[in-house]
Amino acid sequence: MNQLDLACESFRKILEEQLSRIQAMNTEKVDFSKKKTVTIGLVDGDGIGPIIMEQAVKVLKYLLKSEIAAGTVILKPIAGLTIENRLALGQSVPSHTLAQIKSCDVLLKGPTTTPMGGKMESANVTLRRELDLYANVRPVSIPQEGIDWTFYRENTEGEYVLGSRGVELPGMAVDFKVTTDPGTERIARAAFEFARQNGKNRVSIVTKANIMKKTDGKFTAICHEVAKDYPEITVDDWYIDIMTANLVNPAIRSQFQVFLLPNLYGDIITDEAAQIQGGVGTAGSANMGDRYAMFEAIHGSAPRLIEEGLGAYANPASILKAEAMLLRHICRPQAAQRLESALERCPLTVEPGGTTCAQYAEAILNLL
Ligand code: NAD
Repeated sequence: MNQLDLACESFRKILEEQLSRIQAMNTEKVDFSKKKTVTIGLVDGDGIGPIIMEQAVKVLKYLLKSEIAAGTVILKPIAGLTIENRLALGQSVPSHTLAQIKSCDVLLKGPTTTPMGGKMESANVTLRRELDLYANVRPVSIPQEGIDWTFYRENTEGEYVLGSRGVELPGMAVDFKVTTDPGTERIARAAFEFARQNGKNRVSIVTKANIMKKTDGKFTAICHEVAKDYPEITVDDWYIDIMTANLVNPAIRSQFQVFLLPNLYGDIITDEAAQIQGGVGTAGSANMGDRYAMFEAIHGSAPRLIEEGLGAYANPASILKAEAMLLRHICRPQAAQRLESALERCPLTVEPGGTTCAQYAEAILNLL
């Protein structure tokens, strides 16, 4: 078979796989208010992951002390998601680790390094696909500027689902972008439900549908279909390029409330939003599906911080914000509220030569 035929064969396989993924999409939602025992998996990751996770676990143990003692909450440390182990086994998420993760209800996860180039998929992309974590939810808030944004980023499709499966022919490379009807409908419904339940009256759809006509065109059309079930909510359409400008425009940015976006644009713009809030160390992120949910900092493993011997100054605020989202998700709103309030009141800033990661967590524990 020549290279063109091989590429066509590979594309056919991809299309078949994606069609069967659509069939497998429907699952029932877990109701944590009725669940007798909740198992929280604790995954360190690598780089600054173990450093920020150590403090996050300390805070979690404090907040859930009585529930842990009563056995209604189980904390389960899960090893094996380090870059060394993943490279040695040639698996983005080693099978044994994945099996342990799947035995939990929710995960608190430290960042994981993804090697540039090569074939190794990002551990996050694998986990989002394996656990079907279709909604990436990232809140960003700057009360003094009236900014209260919540991003609903589609997490399992777009450019990422086949990011390691592109094809190469001599002199050319092609990647794929996938948008499905049920995949879009469920993220749109999640965003509109959030808006309805939290008194928000505006959802902004952000795409590049003028250029990516098939995939982003479908995304926009389905979001508008879903919007018909939420007549009290205003819906507007934006292109990603102008929205990146809007977020740094103080004249209009505080008017936005909920953003609904495909995967890649959501990934990029949420880092911009986190930077506006005070840096990528300051935002939490939830990856939610119907069965599983994973909570993490929005930043990466910060390898340079480790190389420079400054790991002790990794900011744990982002993972602690994710921890508050986890507590809310498993229906522990009081514990979540206590943590959120402590984070708001904590006057310290983690920075090299100043407050360390451990000192910041100690201050949070004192405020609790
Ligand atoms: P990064 O977020 O790790 O670092 C960006 C910058 O922010 C660096 O200067 C870093 O020192 C700083 N920084 C990040 N988090 C910080 C914290 N908590 N405290 C203080 N400073 C912090 O982004 P990157 O350098 O692009 O990525 C590094 C690695 O992390 C890559 O392999 C990437 O693939 C991976 N990554 C993982 C995740 C995840 O697991 N969720 C997310 C993003 C990137």
